[in-house]
Amino acid sequence: MGQPPQFAGSGRADLSKAAPIIQGWCPGALRPMESGDGWVVRVRPRAGRLLPEQARGIAALSTAHGNGLIDLSARANVQLRGVTMASHTPLMDGLRALGLLDDSADAESQRNVTLAPFWAQGDGAYDLALDLSAALTAPSAPRLPSKFGFVVDMGATPILRDIAGDIRIERVDNRALIYATGTQTGAAVPLADAVPTALDLAHWFADAGGIGADGRGRMAQLLAQGAVLPARFAAHAVPAALPFTPRIGLHSAGALVGFEFGQMQADTLGALAQLGPLRITPWRMVLVEGATQMPALPHLITNADDPMLRVIACTGAPACTQAHQPTRDLARALAPHIPQGQICHVSGCAKGCAHPTPAALTLTATPRGFDLVQNGRAGDTAQRADLNPTHIPQAIVHAL
Ligand code: SF4
Repeated sequence: MGQPPQFAGSGRADLSKAAPIIQGWCPGALRPMESGDGWVVRVRPRAGRLLPEQARGIAALSTAHGNGLIDLSARANVQLRGVTMASHTPLMDGLRALGLLDDSADAESQRNVTLAPFWAQGDGAYDLALDLSAALTAPSAPRLPSKFGFVVDMGATPILRDIAGDIRIERVDNRALIYATGTQTGAAVPLADAVPTALDLAHWFADAGGIGADGRGRMAQLLAQGAVLPARFAAHAVPAALPFTPRIGLHSAGALVGFEFGQMQADTLGALAQLGPLRITPWRMVLVEGATQMPALPHLITNADDPMLRVIACTGAPACTQAHQPTRDLARALAPHIPQGQICHVSGCAKGCAHPTPAALTLTATPRGFDLVQNGRAGDTAQRADLNPTHIPQAIVHAL
């Protein structure tokens, strides 16, 4: 028998309160999170890549030890739902056998690296992300807050500027540009020096007081307090980049496919694993590595114009204990009403887990209905309050 798991969230939310519970850490495999449909176990594939046998193994473990539902997270992780106290230990044994488990909950919480998924063999990005992941769990690595993350975005132009992270590594003139999120300058170094330079910046963050007494802290907070970066991180300008929208379809690296609400059944993951290695993306999509045609499998979104790509919804009630209302049936009903290029986010509470950034329309559940926020986030001031779900389609037609 192993140690009982540490919990990333326990206890039931008080649904009489509208304010969400803000956690200072992220769940993992060894530190699961309690939810309304059992424990959520988050697996962090190294550099976001699952070999076919690993993806097949996760699918089988989800069926055997969870409820067969698998979520993709905004940090390119894979979450197994419906795990129980009894099934957690055999699940950990299975993940360990697949090479997907860290030595400790602390180690897994430190390994927050998001890699842009369109990397090519030989361009150095995949190896860099693997090296960085290994370095972050070494004894000499700084002990960072569990939400502190690194973004490795080494294509010709950056595509992950909208993805949460504290330290970014991008490519300039075939060198690596390392910079703190929110700043306009960084250090440009040879690719071989990228990992130690990123760790130097992380050490500076820790030494400069970026980590509070409660163990939390983000780079943007520290910089907003007036902390001044070391001079070497002011030497190279961060190039401007256009906003990037991922497009379902074929890419040079493979086929990018989507899923309703970023969630799939274990069978779907097992079927995808038959097609090749899978790259988990921070857009809750999967890139089937090397595929030259779109997979013809059920329950995938393979058309870039699919209306379901225009709605985002968290788990909602009853699967999340903090949710005030169900979310996904409403989002399905609204999808045909959302114009191309717009996003409607339906959130079970003001926390807005599924889409922390602004959306054209956000519907935030309250104990009395839904608040409607235009061009804002789930917790922002609402333009309309306590809407009845049956009146929402009409309300959004007027709002758009
Ligand atoms: S936003 Fe959704 S998933 Fe996140 S805590 Fe609220 S109800 Fe739960």
